[in-house]
Amino acid sequence: MVRTTNVLSLPAERPLSILVVGAAGFVGSHLVDRLLDDGHRVIAVDNLITGRRENIAHLQGHARFRFIEHDIIQPLALDEGLDWVMHLASPASPPKYQHWPIETLEVNSFGTHHLLDLAREKHAKFFLASTSEVYGDPLQHPQKEEHWGNCNPNGPRSMYDEGKRYAEAAAMAYHRHYGLPVRIIRIFNTYGPRMDPHDGRIVTNFIRQALAGEPLSVFGDGAQTRSLQYVSDLVEGIVRYMKVDHPGPVNLGNPVERTVKEIAEMILRLTGSASPLSFHPLPENDPKRRRPDISLAQELLDWTPTVSAEEGLARTIEAARHDQGLLQGARRS
Ligand code: NAD
Repeated sequence: MVRTTNVLSLPAERPLSILVVGAAGFVGSHLVDRLLDDGHRVIAVDNLITGRRENIAHLQGHARFRFIEHDIIQPLALDEGLDWVMHLASPASPPKYQHWPIETLEVNSFGTHHLLDLAREKHAKFFLASTSEVYGDPLQHPQKEEHWGNCNPNGPRSMYDEGKRYAEAAAMAYHRHYGLPVRIIRIFNTYGPRMDPHDGRIVTNFIRQALAGEPLSVFGDGAQTRSLQYVSDLVEGIVRYMKVDHPGPVNLGNPVERTVKEIAEMILRLTGSASPLSFHPLPENDPKRRRPDISLAQELLDWTPTVSAEEGLARTIEAARHDQGLLQGARRS
């Protein structure tokens, strides 16, 4: 198991006031935990469209944490000063953004403008969680930040790809036109505890199916590849990037590429499940291969992912088992 020493807790020079929008989501809630651990003050905003209150329930009562339930499609008025406005709000998995297509377009367009305006008003820095989906079905492999992407502007994933491409364009327009400091990351497939078990992403699907003894649904022949990043590696990259003055975009992902079938087999081994694999047709516009080129993040942030797939999946499976236990306990009581 490879674990190098570059996951440092970098203490803040002074506590910062940080607005995290999308804070009750999977990535947002882990980021909030880390920012609070580093001594900052966090105002968490979420409309709970795909996020879950349980993800931040452990923070209720924390002296430096406040939660506001709000839909960022509407402007947000805040009295206090802010150092950072961090925009992680958006449905993020294909079943979710396809279920909420208009909301996805709106949060990435109107929501992004409201947060960019708020950052300007507060003289704060703006952070955007973009996605590897801006590369679409990429024409280069692995993907460097210079790749403009191969997206279908009106295809079944367009509400998300084009929403994020618009959000990047808006952030760069405010940066170039108003001099607003921005940081844009492009997140590649990330997994870990607190993912919604029904979000339709491969890791959650496979773990849920393996633990339930159901067949693991593999789309296509399973030879298409994914590169999976564990959430603590992503959060470490984000925190490092907050200390570096560069608008990006910067890829954050794990470059180790595995076939979907290999991932399924690893999850079967780690769960000890005897579930078979069941093969289904590949969805339209599903990317065949996606792998980040992380040389920019390595150079700029001195960052590289350190959590191996075995270790990250084992932690995620343990958390899923724990959640399942809680669920069964709640049903019994
Ligand atoms: P998530 O769905 O768990 O979190 C997104 C959060 O945003 C949710 O809590 C949701 O309720 C909230 N939200 C959505 N619309 C909102 C609105 N209008 N107002 C306020 N809150 C709103 O997804 P995630 O996996 O944690 O993703 C977080 C961010 O990272 C997203 O912007 C996503 O596009 C990006 N991203 C994630 C991945 C990944 O692998 N998890 C990959 C690429 C990009």
